[in-house]
Amino acid sequence: MRNTKSTQLIFELSRSGRRAHLLPPADVPNVDLGSVLPSGALADAPPPLPELAEGDVVRHFTNLSTLNMSVDTHFYPLGSCTMKYNPKRNERLASLPGLVDVHPYQPESTIQGLLEILWNVQNDFAEISGLPAVSLQPAAGAHGELAALMVAAAHFRKLGQHRPNVLAPDSSHGTNPASAKMAGFETITVKSGANGLVDLNDLRSKVNEKTAVFMITNPSTLGLFDTQIKEIAEIVHSHGGLIYLDGANMNAILGITRPGDFGADMMHYNPHKTFSGPHGGGGPGAGPICVRDFLAPYLPAPTVGRKGDTYYLDQGGSDSVGRVRSFFGNVGVLLRAFFYIRSLGGSGLKEVSENAVLNANYLLSRVRHILPVPHGNRCMHEFVASASTLKKEKGISAMDLAKRLLDFGFHAPTVYFPLTVPEAVMVEPTETESKEMMDAFVEALFRITGESADLLHEAPHTTKISRPDEVTAARKPVMKWTAS
Ligand SMILES: *Cc1c(COP(=O)(O)O)cnc(C)c1O
Repeated sequence: MRNTKSTQLIFELSRSGRRAHLLPPADVPNVDLGSVLPSGALADAPPPLPELAEGDVVRHFTNLSTLNMSVDTHFYPLGSCTMKYNPKRNERLASLPGLVDVHPYQPESTIQGLLEILWNVQNDFAEISGLPAVSLQPAAGAHGELAALMVAAAHFRKLGQHRPNVLAPDSSHGTNPASAKMAGFETITVKSGANGLVDLNDLRSKVNEKTAVFMITNPSTLGLFDTQIKEIAEIVHSHGGLIYLDGANMNAILGITRPGDFGADMMHYNPHKTFSGPHGGGGPGAGPICVRDFLAPYLPAPTVGRKGDTYYLDQGGSDSVGRVRSFFGNVGVLLRAFFYIRSLGGSGLKEVSENAVLNANYLLSRVRHILPVPHGNRCMHEFVASASTLKKEKGISAMDLAKRLLDFGFHAPTVYFPLTVPEAVMVEPTETESKEMMDAFVEALFRITGESADLLHEAPHTTKISRPDEVTAARKPVMKWTAS
């Protein structure tokens, strides 16, 4: 997939100078704002601003920026979220003037370079997924789920079929049933067997001519690849339903297998996870979706098309579900994905997944001597341990472990998800961590499980804030600065 043409393109964009393509055409008159705005709307003096030394301001914000943990400062094994290292190269490339100094209302003829990149990234996503039709519009994984389910709904409407149900396994991410509901479906939960994989008998008993879509995360949030996937697809397809692949865990299978090859009809990517976009605290993300050809007419528009050597925004036909986001999608995140994909090439992406799986298995093989891992001795890119014995025997919960790890300089793993494992501790090291760092994490976890429950209930002890009431903080955020 390595492409010298796009390297050339990046080079030209960087040389193309900031302004030339941005100047308004000569026949656009200059506007004097003073003569257009009503006089009452104009300020007569600049607003009063506090006067501070630049050094004080820089120190203030630099210090603030270090209060949070980040991938750049700490190991961040947050399962399901794929907090891999974000190459600085991506940042430099994504801030080239030819890419950041453009405006979405510019004529297409003046943003051909950007459209070419977006067209290429559409094709890369199609190639990696094995699903040929792509829309870059959705702004997050959850948004991609919603958009794809809207596509499925439009498809069944067109066929004149009433299919009100979406099925999803009990280990699925909470966004799956939420997206189904928002798209107008009812969700039916399919049980997992003792091995953590989809219980085929339960699936067979619930799938019927009312089933629109079966949403599956494969590899799952338990870090298991469901090897029954082809059979699952056959069961669902035989009733006329579609398979949706939640692609949040693509980091484990890049270049190894493709959703389109194992039976998926639609999927989303989380480029901020799989393709190294910096993210956290809810964004920024993207959720491009890929679908089979017969679903292409329903995709959200615009998509990027090419006629000869010219790129254009294809506004879609009358079957398209329309826009799901302003302009062309979250371009900044998509650009980083493009640079990451093209920097690594096909074999590099495969190595990403091989190393992500190798790292997770190394960590699994050590952590299971400290906390039981209920599902299997082997995993894909992540695994889920359980603190339930520790809780029963010593009163130490998954939350206590997570909080205490902060004192040892590690971001906490994901806890209490998936819901199918009690006191879940979900660990995802990603391919970018060293053996030394993973060993240090195991050592910290080992030491913590030997500490007193009282000490752990009060943890963390070294952070500015200890245990905030997260629910209240989310529901009633205090957005105003108060000097205390
Ligand atoms: C992260 C994640 C999502 C949601 O993706 P966002 O980009 O955060 O909206 C959905 N499913 C799974 C399995 C995930 O890990």
